[in-house]
Amino acid sequence: MLKIQNVSFGYNTHQVLRNINFETQKGEILGVLGPNGSGKSTLIRCISGILPGFSGTISINGQSTATLNTVKRARWISVVPQNASLPSAFTAMETVLLGRTPYINFLGQISQLDREIACSALEQVDALELSERVIGELSGGEKQRVILARALAQSAPIMLLDEPTSSLDLQHQMKLLSLVKKLAKENSLTVVIALHDLNLAARFADRIALLVNGELKALGTPWQVLKADILAEAYSWPVKVIDHPFFDTPLILPESVL
Ligand code: ADP
Ligand code: MG
Repeated sequence: MLKIQNVSFGYNTHQVLRNINFETQKGEILGVLGPNGSGKSTLIRCISGILPGFSGTISINGQSTATLNTVKRARWISVVPQNASLPSAFTAMETVLLGRTPYINFLGQISQLDREIACSALEQVDALELSERVIGELSGGEKQRVILARALAQSAPIMLLDEPTSSLDLQHQMKLLSLVKKLAKENSLTVVIALHDLNLAARFADRIALLVNGELKALGTPWQVLKADILAEAYSWPVKVIDHPFFDTPLILPESVL
């Protein structure tokens, strides 16, 4: 589905991504983990097409994303960026309707179907009651759910999310990741999601890509990647990994060294 081959990227002379290779399948959630500054957001931006100057190839079903125009790319890939800037005077509904832009005809007419899809997206993220509120007056967590709804309304088979849970409370973290998992399984959505919480990644990702200093240090199932020695080296902090008492996932416990 989505294939990353020999991708490297630097901001001016500052090399960030170093020869990244992986492939994701339909219906799979790939969690991208790594310390602050390891290149997670940069990787997401290269895949989404907003950083075109990378070397190597990123392709979808064999077609290089470099050959896609903006509308085609938006039909393939939706993005939930880390710090999305939204027009603050727009209502939540108008914001979600922006997700329909790649399907709207040249007259700019929004169809009944576009409205239904936008309503359904807001409903799925538990934000239908925010429809007529303006973005500038929403809390960080409410805004984040509207941004997810905008991405859902885009109806693209690949969704990229950059630390989408960081401003959410416990309930909405769980709701968002459970929804992403449901969409991946039921709609065969391919998801690449940068996360900083190792235990959320262990619980929701099918596979994990661990980036350290722009290199892919490990790629595999949560059990293969979330190992004490691998994590301690990646994060420069000792950790214990135990079996989760309720789920068949590893549970990561940072040790205290002071
Ligand atoms: P992560 O998301 O894993 O925290 P980033 O991809 O945001 O990491 O950043 C990787 C590295 O690239 C960091 O050293 C960061 O300072 C640098 N960086 C990120 N964005 C820019 C930018 N726009 N210009 C220059 N350097 C950047
Ligand atoms: Mg980041």
